Amino acid sequence: MFQKIILAYDGSEHSQRAAAVAQELALKEDAEVRIVYAFNPISKIIGNPTLEELMQRETAQGNEIAGAAAKQMRDAGLDPHVEVLEGPPADAILRVAEVRGSDLIVMGSRGLGNTRALFLGSVSHKVLQAATCPVLVVR
Ligand code: ATP
Ligand code: MG
Repeated sequence: MFQKIILAYDGSEHSQRAAAVAQELALKEDAEVRIVYAFNPISKIIGNPTLEELMQRETAQGNEIAGAAAKQMRDAGLDPHVEVLEGPPADAILRVAEVRGSDLIVMGSRGLGNTRALFLGSVSHKVLQAATCPVLVVR
């Protein structure tokens, strides 16, 4: 039923649980997995070469975070794609889902933020609100 799965991953415990679900589902469905990590927008007021340096640093850090999830999946026999891009995170996740024609987005209910009172974080809230494909939110 699901052939192109996106895992939105920020390295949080919640997203690690989401990764486990995405992995199990992908193995069962023989689906392609795309791990997406978005870093916060870099102010364009900052001039070059600082802008490029910051982009490189954020991209390298993102590759490390998403790479950890990718490694686990490879160990389980999957061959996930990794996409690290500039946010805002919800917009980036939605954009990738649109461009890649994904049919499922898997994500955690909460992430790295610490507004514990809320049941849903702002990223999962916005993705749920605007996605054009099914979204699986892992508690
Ligand atoms: P907030 O960010 O609003 O303070 P939070 O951090 O607790 O709250 P979210 O950021 O909405 O909650 O995280 C929910 C899920 O969204 C995460 O488990 C993860 O799957 C996904 N997510 C959050 N941030 C990112 C990101 N930067 N890149 C990719 N996925 C993300
Ligand atoms: Mg967050």
